[in-house]
Amino acid sequence: MIHAIHDFSAKLRQPSVIGSLETYVAWRQEVRAAREGSLPEPPAPHSAPVSINLDLTTACNYKCTHCIDWDILNTKHRLIEADLRASIAHMAEHGLRSVILIGGGEPTLYPGFVDFVGFLKDLDLSVAVVSNGSRGDRLLGAVERMDERDWIRLSLDSGSNELFIAMHQPNGDTDLDEICSWAPKWKAANPKPRIGFSYIIVWQGATRDGETLHENIHEIALAAERAKEAEFDYISFKPVLERQEDGAEVMDPARADARLADVLGRIRGQVGQAQELADDGFEVYVSTNLASLEDGTWKDLAQQPQTCHMQALRQVLTPLGLYNCPAHRGVDKARIADKDAYADGEKAEATGAALGDILNEFDASHECREVTCLYHDVNWWIEDLIAGKAELVPGHESRDHFL
Ligand code: SF4
Repeated sequence: MIHAIHDFSAKLRQPSVIGSLETYVAWRQEVRAAREGSLPEPPAPHSAPVSINLDLTTACNYKCTHCIDWDILNTKHRLIEADLRASIAHMAEHGLRSVILIGGGEPTLYPGFVDFVGFLKDLDLSVAVVSNGSRGDRLLGAVERMDERDWIRLSLDSGSNELFIAMHQPNGDTDLDEICSWAPKWKAANPKPRIGFSYIIVWQGATRDGETLHENIHEIALAAERAKEAEFDYISFKPVLERQEDGAEVMDPARADARLADVLGRIRGQVGQAQELADDGFEVYVSTNLASLEDGTWKDLAQQPQTCHMQALRQVLTPLGLYNCPAHRGVDKARIADKDAYADGEKAEATGAALGDILNEFDASHECREVTCLYHDVNWWIEDLIAGKAELVPGHESRDHFL
């Protein structure tokens, strides 16, 4: 069963965003008709993605052994605040509904982070922050600006201070106790945004650049106990990803030292113990790709249509430029435009043309053939909409605009 946070077709059918999808589907139908008639392709509509991942900075104060963005951390690339604000304001006028401040660096290290969250909220955008938790004070400032649509998720991946420090190698004396002590303060300041404890499950044999990572399966249940005690709203589990040579982020359980069945058995036992802690005030989520690993369907999630439609509806804006997908962040062939891609109408128009090119040229059936893609189902559904094999019917408004 798809969890609501990963039911992207339901999110796109909400009355507040269905117009963006209708516009996209109509454009792609016109493109196909033009091709069949050997006519010039119509230009992209003047629209923005519904949701973006925004990497505010490449700076990071940790050296996580399992970091997927290792190669782009702490580089000289910077966003220019004025261009960034102009881009976000332009996008908000043209369909942007949510921003996830995430990856490629630690968002709370961005100068003026709290003020920037306030800027996003003043535009009535939904805002999420994925953080290493080291700057509890800045997260407190952000929480004060957030509402019930928003969330903060901390990447903690451990249940003990010892494993936390071994896996994350933080600068200074930050540890798990210190980070978790902030959660009640955020809750007291503003109970509306949800606060999550994220746990990437690492099995023995997983590597980054040939280096072995710390296994953490044995601390899954311990982390859930800690998360509940520290007043997190939920803990979420997902499998470790590794970066392939071509840049794609993939789940590769074949590398596990032990037999996959044994690894899965241990994960299942620990996650089962964690799930026993769930109650009205504490949820335990298993990610779609972890669930697919469990039920043996994970290879199905790597069967993509030739065109990835999510490239138009969810993009990744970083100090290195605008990319088509979080799974290809920082990879040249996935780059759509410069970091000021939406800074004004002229640039947005050029970005629309570049989007048309990447939709035609980026063959997801090949480039994402190893990626257990969370957007697999929604991509095939949009493919059917364009082909006239499915009908677009408005759905329920959940006010969840994160893609
Ligand atoms: S098919 Fe999936 S992994 Fe590939 S670009 Fe699209 S969303 Fe990303």
